[in-house]
Amino acid sequence: MQPKPYIEQWIRADIRNLTAYHVPNATGLIKLDAMENPHTWPDTMRQEWATLIQQVHVNRYPDPSATRLKSTLRTQMGIPSTADILLGNGSDELIQILALAVGSNTSVILAVEPSFVMYRMLADWARVRYIGIPLNPIDFSLDLATVLAAIAEYKPAVIFLAYPNNPTGNLFDADAIREIIRTTAGLVVIDEAYAPFTDATFLNEVLQYANVLVLRTLSKMGLAGLRLGYLVGHADWIIELDKVRMPYNINVLTQETAVFALQHKNLLDNQTHNICAERERLQHSLATLPGVLAYPSQANFILLRVAYATKIMQQLKDAGILIKCLHGSHPLLDNCLRITVGTAAENAILLTALTDIIHRLQL
Ligand SMILES: *Cc1c(COP(=O)(O)O)cnc(C)c1O
Repeated sequence: MQPKPYIEQWIRADIRNLTAYHVPNATGLIKLDAMENPHTWPDTMRQEWATLIQQVHVNRYPDPSATRLKSTLRTQMGIPSTADILLGNGSDELIQILALAVGSNTSVILAVEPSFVMYRMLADWARVRYIGIPLNPIDFSLDLATVLAAIAEYKPAVIFLAYPNNPTGNLFDADAIREIIRTTAGLVVIDEAYAPFTDATFLNEVLQYANVLVLRTLSKMGLAGLRLGYLVGHADWIIELDKVRMPYNINVLTQETAVFALQHKNLLDNQTHNICAERERLQHSLATLPGVLAYPSQANFILLRVAYATKIMQQLKDAGILIKCLHGSHPLLDNCLRITVGTAAENAILLTALTDIIHRLQL
């Protein structure tokens, strides 16, 4: 007995044609592929945390509205007191909630490209039409005229803008974003996953518009394993979106740990400041390598364009370092690599290996 005929009958054809999101095995490698914070917690803090976790009642459902976590987020992340918050199991889940809530056979989700791949994936799963508008090929800035023309043509329900953008690392022009907000009849979601690495934010403006939400995550600031994202905006938006949220989507361990970690936000801030300083050092060193174009970054990673991206990625892997090869993922990313900023020691190992590989490839 084979399930195949059943699958062909019942699994949607568009789902059958998808390839699952691939996460490479990083065992034993220096992991510079996924924008994680490489720093850990001091032992005293881990002990304190372990004591706290011992008291958690895993036999009970979590607080469905995560009240204490939300109020901690509000004070520690500077969320305007009049804005409402929706929590997600990672910001990925919040993108999915948005796609589900607007999903219909006429709605469109629009994003610029290259950007975060989950916008398209989650639109596809929810069967919402997805439109990707290319960025300027030279510097990955917003092509405002083309975006405005696409807004007029497709009348998107939601526009996703990552600020700073992944995988390019740059911030889009804030006034261009404001013009998009004023022009579209739809919702604009500003995805600030990399907020810990830049001063730029729309958080203070979110309530000035009727059609803006700011999406954030704790992942890139050092808590990727917890899976906690948050969406900030007018209560009226949050009330509607909350209706398609799983009742207990934020588990007890995440709620307790996130509150604890946010009470130690100084430590996380020190770590992200260190990452920013390392980013600048790495940026300068990479720029001296022959045949390497290192794009400026306001995030915790650097996009590179090289001569032989696939080869370099593979040879770095052979040398024990995992980075992300973006070659083939989008026409504007030909021969591009994305390197997450690691610890000073990891970055030094990376630079030595990369310098060596590039010299050998040039011979
Ligand atoms: C990493 C990333 C996210 C996803 O974050 P999670 O909260 O870990 O799901 C969202 N948006 C962008 C632009 C990202 O790079």
